[in-house]
Amino acid sequence: MRTPFVAGNWKMYNTIAEARHLVSEMVPGLQAIAGVDKVLCPPFTSLLAVRALLEGTDIGLGAQNIHWEPSGAFTGEISPSMVSELCNYVIIGHSERRAYFGETDETVNKKVHAAIAHGLTVILCVGETLVENEAGQTAEVVSRQVRKGLNGLDLSALGSGQIGSLVIAYEPVWAIGTGRAATAEGANGVVAQVIRPAFSELLGDNASQAIRVLYGGSVKASNAAEFFEQPDIDGALVGGASLKAAEFIGIVDAARR
Ligand code: PEP
Repeated sequence: MRTPFVAGNWKMYNTIAEARHLVSEMVPGLQAIAGVDKVLCPPFTSLLAVRALLEGTDIGLGAQNIHWEPSGAFTGEISPSMVSELCNYVIIGHSERRAYFGETDETVNKKVHAAIAHGLTVILCVGETLVENEAGQTAEVVSRQVRKGLNGLDLSALGSGQIGSLVIAYEPVWAIGTGRAATAEGANGVVAQVIRPAFSELLGDNASQAIRVLYGGSVKASNAAEFFEQPDIDGALVGGASLKAAEFIGIVDAARR
């Protein structure tokens, strides 16, 4: 049984004051929902403030990116140990980072290794663009992103064989921030027929059945249940709707089994 997982990716939204306000609005509603792993991923600048507000709750905290090097002359970057001082999760390979900041399967792979070595739980994002989707390349692209993104990983690196320190988010790029979500059946098909088999090739069948795979792309409180009813979708990575307390609480509530 895979515990449902819902993470909010705040992207580059919210000052520290705004973050405090949003988290205060969300915490009581989120705390009332048991049986779902919930994670908030604010910008780096708000991690410390949000962490203070989440203390004593069962709500996890994550960053949206890391650099793979432990330290060095990398102006503007944040190392894995800096992130792991503040939180337990990190989003890696989000399509916005691949599209606007030159991230490749190779750099994503380095970040995955660095994050896991520092005890962070990775939320690895994969997904095809609209052009790739329309060219019938979804399976090829998504399978490649999983295999290359996780290349070289073994079960022992994931913590005594536990697959809990890795989560994959299937986020078709054309569905992110567009209001045009994938169909629940279509997304489930990619997870079941592409992502789990690719993962199985790397780490075996048991791990592939145990790993949690999320859907992301225009999820809101009103459509979340459709995705969560699918057998291979274990939760959601939520962008826009995670910036509104009632919407995000509604999505987490829909993830309860
Ligand atoms: C995301 O940023 O990962 C995302 C899925 O965004 P949205 O929910 O706004 O489509």
